[in-house]
Amino acid sequence: MASLSKADVDEQVASLLREKGHRYSNTRRMLVRVLLTAEKPLTNNQIVESHDSLAQSSVYRNLNVLEEVGAVTRIVTNNEFSRYELADGLTEHHHHIICTSCGDITDFSLPLTLEKSLNQSLRTAASKVRFTIDQHRFDGLGTCVACQ
Ligand SMILES: [Zn+2]
Ligand SMILES: [Zn+2]
Repeated sequence: MASLSKADVDEQVASLLREKGHRYSNTRRMLVRVLLTAEKPLTNNQIVESHDSLAQSSVYRNLNVLEEVGAVTRIVTNNEFSRYELADGLTEHHHHIICTSCGDITDFSLPLTLEKSLNQSLRTAASKVRFTIDQHRFDGLGTCVACQ
């Protein structure tokens, strides 16, 4: 779900890290590359397995840093393993279908008209409690074909 070029993503991640005093190290570059080319959010283990030179401990540590600076989003399912993807600002806005049994996640997009009316409804609801909406999340929960 990438809309920016690799170079643009790298530039944005580097600047997010820099703002918080972090370096865009080789490991972090590798993690961003893996997430950029992935078709769906990945678990820690899937990320480690995707690259020979990635070690479990350093993947975990660096994903945390990337999440902290807002470059990576951690998606929590009711499964014991979180999944990671590049943050919405670095990719195309999208939603998730989550299997509540195995935790597998599939990305999907809503039609633009639906996005607009969803945002409109959220803003209306929020204005009643003087709340400002910046973004939204919407997940479909159910059972994947493998778990059915
Ligand atoms: Zn499943
Ligand atoms: Zn949306």
